[in-house]
Amino acid sequence: MKSSKPHSLSTIQLIPVEKVAEADFPSRYGQFRICGFRLANGSAQDTAVVLIKGEPDPDKVPLVRIHSQCLTGDVFASLRCDCREQLEIALEQVGMSEYGFIIYEDKEGRGIGLMSKLKAYELQDEGVDTVEANVRLGYDADLRDYALPAGILQYYKVRAVRLLSNNPDKLRALETCGIKIEERVPIQAVPEQARARYLSTKKEKLGHLLQ
Ligand SMILES: [Zn+2]
Repeated sequence: MKSSKPHSLSTIQLIPVEKVAEADFPSRYGQFRICGFRLANGSAQDTAVVLIKGEPDPDKVPLVRIHSQCLTGDVFASLRCDCREQLEIALEQVGMSEYGFIIYEDKEGRGIGLMSKLKAYELQDEGVDTVEANVRLGYDADLRDYALPAGILQYYKVRAVRLLSNNPDKLRALETCGIKIEERVPIQAVPEQARARYLSTKKEKLGHLLQ
């Protein structure tokens, strides 16, 4: 997908962020730097881990993945969702790229938190879909606004990205912050029966660009 309209300076929202820590990070997917970031004036949950491949350079267009923490998928390899596969694809692709970022936000369950997410699973077992379950627990379908990831990219003076995503909200959030989407790179896990309904809800109710 190509984006066209550049934002005028007056409409660009600058998100203040703070870097908490930075260290070397060798991994199976390559050599990264690892950083901790927080939203300045944010709550304790407004934090993100950032893996950086290559040397930040305002004149280059990095490959970027914004990933929301999913303990059940990322750590326990759940088949209820596609998070772990997406994370592995992102680690592989960013790891192989010359310049890239994986921004891993503390937004379990699209922002509702881990315990509420487990309650939402309970509701889903009774036949409620992933969006309706959040609503029944008193939350919006999706609480994420991607301010912190946008602020982190601004911190590194990133002006345009190739974004690994199926989520139009993420594209819009970055463009609002003056970061051009030079290309949307689809990120699609192999189909699994266990998450077929979850993915069709993402597509139909959250507008994700899935095939
Ligand atoms: Zn997940």
